[in-house]
This record gives sequence, structure tokens and C-alpha cells, in this order.
Amino acid sequence: RGLAIGIDIGGTKVAAGVVDAEGQIVREARRATPGSQPREVERVIVELVNELSVEHRIASVGIGAAGWMDLEGGTVLFSPHLAWRNEPLRDNLERLLRRRVLLTNDADAAAWAEWRFGAGRGEQRLVCITLGTGIGGAMVIGGRLERGRYGVAGEFGHQVIMPGGHRCECGNRGCWEQYASGNALGREARELARANSPVAQELLKTVGGDVDAITGAVVTELARKGDQASHDLLEDVGEWLGLGLANLAAALDPGTFVVGGGLCDAGDLLLEPARRAFARNLTGRGFRPAARIERAELGPQAGLIGAADLSRVSPRAGWAAS
Ligand code: BGC
Ligand code: ZN
Repeated sequence: RGLAIGIDIGGTKVAAGVVDAEGQIVREARRATPGSQPREVERVIVELVNELSVEHRIASVGIGAAGWMDLEGGTVLFSPHLAWRNEPLRDNLERLLRRRVLLTNDADAAAWAEWRFGAGRGEQRLVCITLGTGIGGAMVIGGRLERGRYGVAGEFGHQVIMPGGHRCECGNRGCWEQYASGNALGREARELARANSPVAQELLKTVGGDVDAITGAVVTELARKGDQASHDLLEDVGEWLGLGLANLAAALDPGTFVVGGGLCDAGDLLLEPARRAFARNLTGRGFRPAARIERAELGPQAGLIGAADLSRVSPRAGWAAS
């Protein structure tokens, strides 16, 4: 079996790689996600596929994108963070690339990779959460991606967890992803810095006073170096994460939650508070088995690995339409 290209299109970056049948990345490339134009994103995808095909014979191409796919995996119905509205992305790409393309949601791709090669191996009921610009969600149940009746199951990030809370790009207020994503961490940190609190001193120093330059990644980096405020900010986000996972456990009862996406770089600084909040909020706690909460073994690369692997196992999204 040959090599496959996997591409993960997120709110801020496009990560691509050549992946072998064991889920190992042979070669990688990345770009910033171009602004608001669907055609621009297509151009970047074509560029990446061409670049990665130069030295390798590629058998298939898979795309995981931060959007809501129809069940056939042809159309991006909607994306809170990107410009797609009812976009026939797969057809467009197949025309441009002159080859077949598998298209799926980015979190579905990550869940698949973690189930095949990562922290979810062998799990009968796996729920995967990716924390980045937003919160992605996906389920692998009995070895199949569960995509719902219309293809858009697993949009956990848009469960309203705080009525009247922060406005979400989906249009609602108080969505979970406004409290437990990489973007949420950045927003909270910027707010702290703008309040001119002395506890934000290290944060401000790191970005030379440019508050807008404070991102989730900056906070994670500082927390690792021992900055207390950054540590506390990650703990807050971890608590929101754990609370949301407890809600998901009430609905879905998985054996394992795998947490991936860029923010999972924070590791236990995020996951320990999440595990505590999960244990404290789980309904029936003390009288029921509780799911494990694991960091994605493939890290932020899970999405591109999963997209590549899915394109190899099945060139069309039919695999998921159970
Ligand atoms: C989108 C999902 C996506 C997730 C992670 C959410 O806001 O609704 O489709 O999987 O962000 O990128
Ligand atoms: Zn939302």
C-alpha cells in the first residue's frame, strides 16, 4: 500500500504531510490559512499537494477541514471560522488536482488517527476533542466514525455551556469553545493583560507590551516556564474542559476521551485540572465507571495523519455513513 497525503485545514494553519500505512509522517509542509476566500484555500491545498508529490508516489489524498461536512463528504455546509458556505469543496479540488479526494471534518480525521495509531487504539467507544481555534469533536464507535444523520454529529464545541456568555462565531452565545479552546485561552490572557493587573507582568513582558500578540501558545509557553498567571489561566480553561467532558460523558458514555489540537501541547497543565473538574462534575460519580482522559498521542498532527489514512482505507466518505 502506497503513501497518502493528508491535509488538515484549521482556523489559522494548514498542515500537510505524506503519511505511510503505519501512520508515520514521511514529509511535512505547512502554511497559514489564507483569509476569507474559499478559492485561496483551494489554491493553498493544490500547492501543498504538488509540493509533497514531487519526491513521493502518492496513492490518495485526504482533507480534514474545520467545517461541517454533508454525509457524502462532498460539500462543506458551514464553517464558523472559515469562509465556506455550502461549498462543493471536494468537486472543486478533484477538478484542480485531477484525482480523487476524500473530504471530512478535521476532528473526525483526528479521532480516526488516534483510534488507529494513537491514544484511542482498541477503544470501543472513543470520543475525541480537538482544542485549537475552536473545539472539534468526533466519535469512533465500534471502529467506525459516527457522523450522525446529516454528517454533522460531534459539534460539541457549540453546546451552550453559559447562556448569555461570550459570542461565538457560529452566531450563538456561550458555546463551549468560547471557554475551553486555544482561542479562549488567548482571549482570557489578553483580557487579564488589558486590565493592567500586576499578575500579567510576565505576559506583557514576553510580547513587549503588544497585548494583541498574546495567544494561547504564548500562555502555554509561559506556564511551562513557571509563570503563575499563565498557569492559572490554563487551569481555568482546564476546568471548563473537564465540565464539558462530564456533560459529554452523561450523553455518550465513552471509555476514553482523547484530547488533541494545538492546545494539547500544554499537556498536564491543562489535563490535570480537566480531570479534576471532570471527576467533580460527572453525574453519578462514585457509583459508576468513569472514562479516561488522555492526551492525543499524535498531538496536533493527528488531523493530517487521519485524513491521509481515511483516504487510503476508503477514497469516499461512504465508510462513515453507518
Ligand atoms: C467547528 C468544527 C471544527 C472545530 C475545530 C468548530 O468551531 O464547528 O467543525 O471541527 O471548530 O476546528
Ligand atoms: Zn458556537
